[in-house]
Amino acid sequence: MSRRKKAKLEIKEDKDEKSSLTEQGFPETSDKLKVSSNEKKAGQVTSGRASVLKKEKKDDLKKEKDSDKQEDSELDDPIIKDLFSGLEGAAFQSRMPFDKLTSTEAACFPDIASAALQTIKVFLNIRNRILKMWLDNPKQQLILDHAIENMEQPYNSDIPLLKRIHAFLERNGFINYGIFKRLQPIPKKKYGKVIVIGAGIAGLAAAQQLQQFGLEVIVLEARDRVGGRIATFRKGNYIADLGAMVVTGLGGNPVTTLSKQIDMELHRIRQKCPLYQSCGVTVDKDKDEMVEREFNRLLEATSYLSHQLDFNYAGNKPVSLGQALEWVIKLQEKHVKERQIQHLKSVIDLQEKLMANERELVRVKETMQEINVKVKEVSNLESKRDLNQEFVYRSGIRDLNALAKEWDQLKVQEKEIEDKLAELESSPPSDVYLSSQDRQILDWHFANLEFANATPLSNLSLKHWDQDDDFEFTGNHLTGM
Ligand SMILES: Cc1cc2nc3c(=O)[nH]c(=O)nc-3n(C[C@H](O)[C@H](O)[C@H](O)COP(=O)(O)OP(=O)(O)OC[C@H]3O[C@@H](n4cnc5c(N)ncnc54)[C@H](O)[C@@H]3O)c2cc1C
Repeated sequence: MSRRKKAKLEIKEDKDEKSSLTEQGFPETSDKLKVSSNEKKAGQVTSGRASVLKKEKKDDLKKEKDSDKQEDSELDDPIIKDLFSGLEGAAFQSRMPFDKLTSTEAACFPDIASAALQTIKVFLNIRNRILKMWLDNPKQQLILDHAIENMEQPYNSDIPLLKRIHAFLERNGFINYGIFKRLQPIPKKKYGKVIVIGAGIAGLAAAQQLQQFGLEVIVLEARDRVGGRIATFRKGNYIADLGAMVVTGLGGNPVTTLSKQIDMELHRIRQKCPLYQSCGVTVDKDKDEMVEREFNRLLEATSYLSHQLDFNYAGNKPVSLGQALEWVIKLQEKHVKERQIQHLKSVIDLQEKLMANERELVRVKETMQEINVKVKEVSNLESKRDLNQEFVYRSGIRDLNALAKEWDQLKVQEKEIEDKLAELESSPPSDVYLSSQDRQILDWHFANLEFANATPLSNLSLKHWDQDDDFEFTGNHLTGM
């Protein structure tokens, strides 16, 4: 599970920067809910796991810490506690922006949406406070009277507004959902009839909500059981979930409320997920990490193709993620060949320089030998040297000195070129992009992505395959005990 795509919501850890919606005003953005759709606009990495490098670093550090205390309850984690705390946490957990109206709120409260900033602030304060009251005690219905009673001053002064906000939050399922003690009876008078088709978790939750709103509800289910894709197999002592069994992060997840309501203890799923080769031996840790990094780099590259270069159609047909990945791999292979060619060119270049240097050495040596012969001739004379002979002797000595210096310089250059050559030849670039074993591991990642998306990569739209990433939950994957 640790290898599944990760959520894009970033967790704010720095307590000092923690901001709350107060009379003093708003923070620019809610730090707890930095949704990476902005990253798409800003042209940063957006695809799945690739988009959360910063968060992954945090996760890695946390993972190390976690391995020592795997059995701790998730809600004891200080990061998670911080995430859920205060008004900001309540809004985050309810998947609402802490400091802004949602589009639904703006549509349902046009008077507030068009009012002065101060009025919007008051609205948001009331809304976030009601959300917090509910999340603090989700085992009991949060009735309007209690919301009014527990509302801090001055937010309790406008009772009609408080009533409207409470009704909005209840009607839209932000409060009073799940399994809780009702303090007010369900209205006897029925306002209408509704048929819900399908008794999966969505249908059952909708049916329950509608029933509580005073509607007569009938649920039609095609199968002979409820639960849909959530199905538990039980036989004797053996219990196995055949469908959903993992809470894919507590942040922004309504299952958090459900688990509190039924006192379900959630435990982290062990992060270790070793890969095995076909021979049964685990894949070397470094290799495993290297290929995983490459997998993320490939996803980044496809994201760049889609979101930066807007390369989403080829011949009027939408490009699939699978196609884009294969193209990027081909480009990488081409790149490897180009690097090899560049390397060979550099080697040849150095060898040519070395040969030219050798030729210069030979030239200097031969010239020195010629001059030496002449100098020897005039210096071995028995009689005194005449003017011409003296000139030959002195200019010969001068030239020999100059040539000796040139020789030394050429020798230094020769050594430098030889060193560079040795360095190049000792570290040639890889002649393949991925070895067959690397490709096997990479294919595992692709298969895992297909599993997570429930379809082959060739069926996934390059542009839209990760569109739900912004709405994923944050935190570790957990399972109930
Ligand atoms: C193997 C597997 C593992 C999963 N693991 C996880 C996990 O670990 N964590 C997680 O969060 N999610 C997981 N999921 C996804 C999760 O199970 C679903 O997202 C969730 O259960 C969907 O709930 P639903 O009510 O929307 O749909 P469903 O559960 O599919 O419910 C739809 C219901 O409608 C019924 N129906 C359909 N058409 C009709 C009709 N015409 N008339 C009458 N009835 C009809 C169906 O029979 C079904 O009961 C997993 C899914 C599968 C298949």
